[in-house]
Amino acid sequence: MDNVLLSAEGVSARYNEREVLHNVSLGFKGGKITAIIGPNGSGKSTLLKTLIGLVPKTEGTVFSEGVSLDKLSASAAARKIAYLPQIKSIPDLTVRTMVLHGRFSHLSYPRRYRKEDIQAVEEALKTIGIYDLADKNVSTLSGGTVQLVFLAMALAQSSPVILMDEPTSFLDIAHQIKLMELCRVLAADGKAVVAVLHDIPMALKYADEIAVMSEGRIAVTGTPLRVYESGVLDKVFEVRVKYTDTESGRVYFCE
Ligand code: ADP
Ligand code: MG
Repeated sequence: MDNVLLSAEGVSARYNEREVLHNVSLGFKGGKITAIIGPNGSGKSTLLKTLIGLVPKTEGTVFSEGVSLDKLSASAAARKIAYLPQIKSIPDLTVRTMVLHGRFSHLSYPRRYRKEDIQAVEEALKTIGIYDLADKNVSTLSGGTVQLVFLAMALAQSSPVILMDEPTSFLDIAHQIKLMELCRVLAADGKAVVAVLHDIPMALKYADEIAVMSEGRIAVTGTPLRVYESGVLDKVFEVRVKYTDTESGRVYFCE
């Protein structure tokens, strides 16, 4: 086994009559950051939603550590996969209370939070570096910091897989880098970290694996180097991807 924690096999999905995901097969490994990239409308968000059952699949199977997700209850599935959607409303809650919501799938009736839930929250706040904001209201924070709170909430869920839809959109560059560095920390902890990214150089820099989507299909997968060398990026995005080698490693850019 190569430590695949979540995989899709032959998954298709449609909205009304129009199929927008066609026979997608893909695996996400523990300890790795996988970036999903592709032009607007190529099906990235739909893929994430289909993986967690938010959009019903018409064909195929999604496996969580080898078990079909269809066999798991909603809360059992949530203990396996945390999902951060692209568009989120900002709740009128303190940071700590919001992160505590990440524990919901771990509670059984009568849904009282236990010591281990509180502990998971405190640890998530520390790992993400927002412990000193715990008592602040989320609605008073900057967009970049709010994104970190969402990440802490996903982390508190203690799931082996985290799916994020464009977590760096609308963030300033410092927060984008911070978020990607945190993704590395979570991957180093053994999680399968999956992020839809809109920035090709960012994906090439931070991801261990890249899946390129085009028109509802996977055009290529592999390491950044393999994906770059395939030439698929230039075709799919209609740009020229180039690189320079610097002291701190290879830096990609688009023209
Ligand atoms: P991406 O995230 O790569 O931009 P999406 O998964 O959002 O792409 O969209 C894939 C295709 O599905 C697009 O053609 C889009 O217009 C269509 N689509 C997305 N969401 C819906 C929806 N709720 N109803 C109908 N069509 C949708
Ligand atoms: Mg999208």
